[in-house]
Amino acid sequence: MLEVMDSKEFRKQAHVLADRMADYFEEISDYPVKSQVKPGEILSALPLSAPVNGESFETIMSDFERIIMPGITHWQSPSFFAFFPANSSYPSVLAEMLTAALGQQGMIWETSPAATELEQRVMEWLRELCGLPASWTGVIQDTASASTLTALLSAREKTTGFRTNLEGFTGMGKLRVYCSSETHSSIEKAVKIAGFGKNNLVKVAVDENFALISAQLEMAIKEDLKKGYTPCAAVASIGTTGSTAVDPVDEIGKICERYKIWLHVDAAFGGTAFLLPEMRHFAAGLEYADSYVFNPHKWMFTNFDASAYFVRDPELLIRTFEILPEYLKTRTRGLVNDYRDWGVALGRRFRALKLWFVIRSFGAEGLREKIRLHNSLAGWLKDRVSEHPDFELMAPVDFSLVCFRYKPKVLSAGEDLDRINASLLSELNGSGKLYLSHTRLNGRFVLRMVTAQTTITRDHVLRAWDLIQQTALKLSLKIE
Ligand SMILES: *Cc1c(COP(=O)(O)O)cnc(C)c1O
Repeated sequence: MLEVMDSKEFRKQAHVLADRMADYFEEISDYPVKSQVKPGEILSALPLSAPVNGESFETIMSDFERIIMPGITHWQSPSFFAFFPANSSYPSVLAEMLTAALGQQGMIWETSPAATELEQRVMEWLRELCGLPASWTGVIQDTASASTLTALLSAREKTTGFRTNLEGFTGMGKLRVYCSSETHSSIEKAVKIAGFGKNNLVKVAVDENFALISAQLEMAIKEDLKKGYTPCAAVASIGTTGSTAVDPVDEIGKICERYKIWLHVDAAFGGTAFLLPEMRHFAAGLEYADSYVFNPHKWMFTNFDASAYFVRDPELLIRTFEILPEYLKTRTRGLVNDYRDWGVALGRRFRALKLWFVIRSFGAEGLREKIRLHNSLAGWLKDRVSEHPDFELMAPVDFSLVCFRYKPKVLSAGEDLDRINASLLSELNGSGKLYLSHTRLNGRFVLRMVTAQTTITRDHVLRAWDLIQQTALKLSLKIE
């Protein structure tokens, strides 16, 4: 059996691909930001069965261009303003290529000492760069969802004296988890997976800025105690997904301390802002947290996936996840980190490499410059929305997200603004020129525009805002 590709051919194709990738980044604005394909369109272009004989790289690449590219939504486009970004950068892509070539599986120190020790160091760097408590210990997880699951499993074991790991949930009573009604869906998912049960997730009301009302949290805890339930964990958000609201972490932290509840802080998107000292007032109370997550794969130019998870007590984390089958017993155990005990998965990708490349290429100041630009672009957009008679700002703008809606004066009060804004969104995204997403705040349909792309400039935001106004006007003329 011949090798499918020899090193000569690999070298040739790798050069071709490098050029293709560079072309892609240079020409990314020529593509419709949101893929315009219909459901099933890509699937129907793919053969029902795998090929019997190997195919040439050229054939595969030509199908990639013909079939796959039209079905790509261009997350790296500077006019991608939807959801939260999963932004990337050249150094990150290059590191990812090396990662694939090395093919490391860093489950324990021995299987990749460099992956393990680089991870330790870059997590220390991140902790310092973001002004996080110096006593915290970090580990890379794949996603914020996995980080939060890890947090809730640790909380469960701490509260039950590690008995749930041994005996399951039998006889443990009802363990309760608290978060706000604006908290990300990954908390509910983790509550289900970790065995708490969805009915034991208590969603606390938010104030006019969509931040958790801490007095209501305390009331909920007291009520649960009266019923004989066991309060176990609370999740506070710094930068909710809907509107980047910030929960009062210091007040929540004090409550958690009083009732001996695990505090997990979810700063998946917003956490990157702590690179900026002037943003750290939003981190007040972070020292109360038992665990904390933010995603460099969202706003820190590190391509998906890389989630930074920090804990106050790594021993507790390890005790929650530790396994020690014979084949994993090593002579270095205890001297080094064996990250397989620091989360759900055994196998681990070498994610630290791209973080290292990114942090070193940008430098702390380079990263800060970008984040400042992104925040200022959102500030600029916020001012335009606020001063426009036919648009309405729907949430405070503290990070790089602006929540707004179209509210034309010409319409009577009975008009369905939700419907109009949904049409506006679909019209805008259908144009291929930009991509926005939406949420609901206070039950209202709201457009979300995030200005946090790696290559975004003021021009992209200016053009987007022009298009939004024009499209909205056209739409309202149609309605009249
Ligand atoms: C995006 C997001 C998550 C989920 O992130 P994943 O890494 O995709 O799991 C969780 N919490 C918040 C606040 C988010 O914005």
